[in-house]
Amino acid sequence: MDTASLRRRIERLIHTHSKAYAPSMLKSGFSCVRCGWCCRENFKIRITQDISRPSNAISVFPDDIRRITRGTGLQWDDVAQPDIYSCLSDGEKILAIGWLLRRSGKNECIFYRKNECSIYEWRPMICRCYPFFMGERGVEVMHCEGLGKEMASESAEGMARVLKRYEMKKLRSYIGIMAQLGDKLNFANLRMLPCGYEGEVFVCDGEMISVRRL
Ligand code: SF4
Ligand code: SF4
Repeated sequence: MDTASLRRRIERLIHTHSKAYAPSMLKSGFSCVRCGWCCRENFKIRITQDISRPSNAISVFPDDIRRITRGTGLQWDDVAQPDIYSCLSDGEKILAIGWLLRRSGKNECIFYRKNECSIYEWRPMICRCYPFFMGERGVEVMHCEGLGKEMASESAEGMARVLKRYEMKKLRSYIGIMAQLGDKLNFANLRMLPCGYEGEVFVCDGEMISVRRL
């Protein structure tokens, strides 16, 4: 992954109307039944030999965090934590690539309460796109209890717009993070922090570099 290829992907997205993504969504027939399956940890995703990422580790953009703080009155650190599953060491410092929605001791998103999302109105973009994501060959679908239902074409078009916006934001955020990390960014060196890690972490989120003590 390099900046030029990310820019090409952004260009392709700009020139593709979001309606082009709607038919595959319509075919899946999605309607959220608010079961919370996607908010709970159901499995681990093996990213590298060393990184085993919980299925519900939710990456969030700074804009997501700001929207949730505005909506809930919570502080930044009540909402988000450094992405402990996506870290590098430059020999002196631990660098985390972005933020995760804060997780509870039970490994759940802290906003998953009484079997539902307690911040539904302000939830992160990635949660708004679920169960769809942009794969190599277009829209792909993840496990979801709400598939195979009636779906109105307006609803598919709305989700297609959100997915396109999310994908563009994600790619631009990668470009920002690459600019922050320069040649320190080597995906082969990505690690997750050991359980119980204590120390400083420098979070690079494409906008700014923030220091947090874990
Ligand atoms: S998106 Fe799917 S898995 Fe998540 S709460 Fe809705 S129905 Fe359940
Ligand atoms: S923010 Fe809401 S929808 Fe997203 S993982 Fe947390 S509880 Fe689920």
